[in-house]
Parts: sequence; C-alpha cells; structure tokens
Amino acid sequence: MEGKTLTPPNPFAVLIDPSPDNGPAVVLVLPRLGVEDVAEAVDAVLAAEPDVRAIDLVVGGDPVGRTTRRHLGGARRHTGVGDGATLPGYTAKYRIIVLRCAEPECDKEIRRIHIDEDQLPACTAGHHSGWTAR
Ligand SMILES: [Zn+2]
Repeated sequence: MEGKTLTPPNPFAVLIDPSPDNGPAVVLVLPRLGVEDVAEAVDAVLAAEPDVRAIDLVVGGDPVGRTTRRHLGGARRHTGVGDGATLPGYTAKYRIIVLRCAEPECDKEIRRIHIDEDQLPACTAGHHSGWTAR
C-alpha cells in the first residue's frame, strides 16, 4: 500500500479501512478515547449523515487513519430502513457538532463530539482563524 504508514500498534486498527478511497472525507476530531468510544462517535456520524462515505479520524491530536462506511458496513446500530423513525437500539451517545473554519474563503470543516477549544486543531488549509458551528 502506498502512502503514510502508521506507527504500530494502532489501537484503532479495527476501525481503519486498509484500502480506503482517496476521495472526500470528513474529519472527526476526538479527545483521547478508547476504541469503543471512537466507534460510537463514528457510528453517530454515519447515522446522522448518510452522504458521508469516509471519515479521517484524529484522536487525542493524532491522525489515526481513515475509516469508511464500506469498511464498517454502515452505522452498526442504524440497521433500519431509513424511514426517519428512531430506531430501536440506537442510542445517540454522542451528538456530532460540525464546525467550519472561520476564514471567510475557506470551506474546511471538522466534526467533533464536544466543544473543547483547547484541543481544536488548525484548519487543514493552514488557517488559524478558529472554527464556527455550522
Ligand atoms: Zn480554513
């Protein structure tokens, strides 16, 4: 496989697609969590945003890799037929917050589960203008 190699061991390896597309992905920035909680947050994004196909995970400030809807088989607890009803067994443990770069010309976004200004990374375009909730 081409590209950057993660330094093993990667505790999130089970979530990471070994051969992800290089297409668009959303960025999910999480505090340092265990793999189960990271999986819950990934599920929350996949369940809430049907158009999201790939998620670049940043955990505790470290990029840990890309997970994809294909790799995970969709949101694990969102197995209904998409009728908009609240599905049994799906608990929204994490509410996803979408933040957009505050730089006027920039459309970069990150997704988070909490507002925690101290841990917000710079925009991937290099801006340091901060983030505003979408
Ligand atoms: Zn930006």
